[in-house]
Amino acid sequence: MGSCCPVCRADAGERLLGAGNVPIMMHRLHATAEAARKAARGTLDLLRCHSCGLVWNAAFDPERLRYDASYENSQAHSPAFLDHMRARADAILKAIPRGEDLDCLEVGCGQGEFLDCVVERAGGRLRHAEGFDPAFRRQPGKTSTYEIHKAQFDGHTAGLLVNPPNVVVTRHTIEHVADPVGFLASIREALGPRSRALMCVETPDVDWILENNAVHDFFYEHCCIFTSAALAIALQRAGFEGAAVDRVFGRQYLWATARAGAGRERPLPAAAARPVAHTDLKNGFVQFWTEQVRAARERGPVALWGAGAKGGTFALLVDAAGELIDHAIDINPGKQGHYLPGSGLPVVSPGASATRRPATVFVMNPVYLDEIGKVASAAGIQADLIPVN
Ligand SMILES: [Zn+2]
Repeated sequence: MGSCCPVCRADAGERLLGAGNVPIMMHRLHATAEAARKAARGTLDLLRCHSCGLVWNAAFDPERLRYDASYENSQAHSPAFLDHMRARADAILKAIPRGEDLDCLEVGCGQGEFLDCVVERAGGRLRHAEGFDPAFRRQPGKTSTYEIHKAQFDGHTAGLLVNPPNVVVTRHTIEHVADPVGFLASIREALGPRSRALMCVETPDVDWILENNAVHDFFYEHCCIFTSAALAIALQRAGFEGAAVDRVFGRQYLWATARAGAGRERPLPAAAARPVAHTDLKNGFVQFWTEQVRAARERGPVALWGAGAKGGTFALLVDAAGELIDHAIDINPGKQGHYLPGSGLPVVSPGASATRRPATVFVMNPVYLDEIGKVASAAGIQADLIPVN
């Protein structure tokens, strides 16, 4: 991606963190531990823009990623995450004028979990909904309530759109894109010059990651991690107007809204990246958490809760030799019975974890701590739960 900020074009970002030999796809499932350990690797060379605060991976190569049906990152099995998605669907409905029906397009819709929420919350206000995602697994074509195209949304596939949307939403997608302004601009262009559709973007907030020292939140697939200023600038440069950015989901995510604009040049929003103390960010994290995991191992088997990118990255950072952590727990049945890329840790259900008798469970995302406490005790896991934050 190079050393020039892909959002505001400021030159030469400052070096934030580097790591060689990281798995390039943290959400790709592996059927055996051996295949998981042989997962393709790449380099993290994270730079931070001194102007807008964007963090990007200068060593990122989009050609190496392939989002297909073996990609599994659904969080919709968590009640807390479902509540979050419902709240976002409600926010969309609140943002369109009373009396106006909803024509919703989702770019990067995964398996349609968010569109399910939109359909549920919109009720009679829903006129039409459709989504695009190359990783969609069910049979393409019309479902009873919405339509999903198994394709990347761009200038070529925009012709598949059945209805001109008045709301476009893209959640947890833009951080995977090497040219985020080009990505948003291609959506703006596909809407047509007369569109004033509402654009909604949800993506991780790099300020939350840095404030919470969540180093296990930096991984290859997320090549651009935004500040609110960077996201507003990206939207404006792509032809969307009046960007407003909220922090949602325990402040972990940014939620931006903007209108498809008429294409007039406007001054860019002011940007001033907050200074962060990140001396030895990665080494500090590795040292602290390796000590915690090592001490926990003295007390009995150690597990991780959360077999997503955070869990996979945490295992590699604190237990590179694979000697300390016994297994990872995940409530997503699509992940259970598989192995984490790089470390080869087995991913099991809460019930299967209980039979392995972990004494300590490190919880990858503190936002789920209450929910995990309930699921763990219902499954018979008698372990100390330690949030990683
Ligand atoms: Zn920048």
